[in-house]
Amino acid sequence: MASSAPLILRVVATSVNVANRAGEIIRDIMSKGDLGIVEKGKNDLQTEADRSAQRSIIASLSSQFPGIRIIGEEGESVSGDVPSDWKVTDSEPSVLGLSCPDNLKSIKEEEMVIWVDPLDGTSEYTQAWKSKNTSLLDHVTVLIGVAVGNKAVGGVIHQPYYNYLKEGAPLGRTIWGIDGCGFGGFTVGSAPKDQRVICTTRSHLDATVQSALDAMTPDEILRVGGAGHKVLLLLEGKANAYVFASGGCKKWDTCAPEAILHAVGGRLTDMVKGEPYQYHAEVEHRNSGGVLGTAPGEDHSWYFSRIPESVRQLLSKPSSR
Ligand code: AMP
Ligand code: MG
Ligand code: MG
Repeated sequence: MASSAPLILRVVATSVNVANRAGEIIRDIMSKGDLGIVEKGKNDLQTEADRSAQRSIIASLSSQFPGIRIIGEEGESVSGDVPSDWKVTDSEPSVLGLSCPDNLKSIKEEEMVIWVDPLDGTSEYTQAWKSKNTSLLDHVTVLIGVAVGNKAVGGVIHQPYYNYLKEGAPLGRTIWGIDGCGFGGFTVGSAPKDQRVICTTRSHLDATVQSALDAMTPDEILRVGGAGHKVLLLLEGKANAYVFASGGCKKWDTCAPEAILHAVGGRLTDMVKGEPYQYHAEVEHRNSGGVLGTAPGEDHSWYFSRIPESVRQLLSKPSSR
């Protein structure tokens, strides 16, 4: 490991390889066929893949960066000893070689928080396995987000099943971004120009979510799983906006996607104030103000202005939705 690179680059560079390993674990568990599904709450599942991927990610990152607080979706009990081949120590050279802006050069471990969603799109992962509907596998991602102070700064999104239909092509891909510094693993696309394509949830729809969608007068709605996958659609020009008027997403869902989106000129904010979320260690885990993401080049304020007042009011209530 090139220990001379600034810490933020080392953390993101290592997270790229850590996410790749988590993706292998996720594929192995699916192919062995016993998902070990546990119901965490209403419409909220956890599988052996979520647990094992989190263990691998936390063991790898905490041994290399012991002073960084790491918050994983599956909680503190899902950590501890892992097989030695689940511990990743190498890092992605193209990230280490970036030129880091002055404001990020001297960030210390105590100023960072890493938000981990070891498997985003669990609902789609389990449905793909049960129904053999393999198109849902594209919705599954591993998310590692790096916050500096309050702000989402670095992000890694790994898609373990990318290319699963292309014979001979390498399986899986990893994209990353550091706001103000660079990005890689994908090409930024142009969002549709002559029509408005909005992506949203496929498994957490309700009347409020729908009324915010209707207010955008969309030409097309893409109902797909996972926060990571939806932001990928924005990054690659397949949708103009991500609209989810619910407090169901958590900080581990949005930290990595938000950082990458901001790195390429897009935006992700709540729907109440239109401000980016805060990601310090003490923050509420729920994104209670909903999620509004827009692709690079889109007028975020237009989408924000369309959100009905009734939706804003519902999302502003402390424990609502
Ligand atoms: P979705 O767009 O429905 O795939 O959700 C994106 C992320 O937010 C996934 O990790 C979901 O598990 C999570 N999420 C969204 N709504 C809820 C909810 N009502 N309960 C639990 N998790 C949710
Ligand atoms: Mg998630
Ligand atoms: Mg998850």
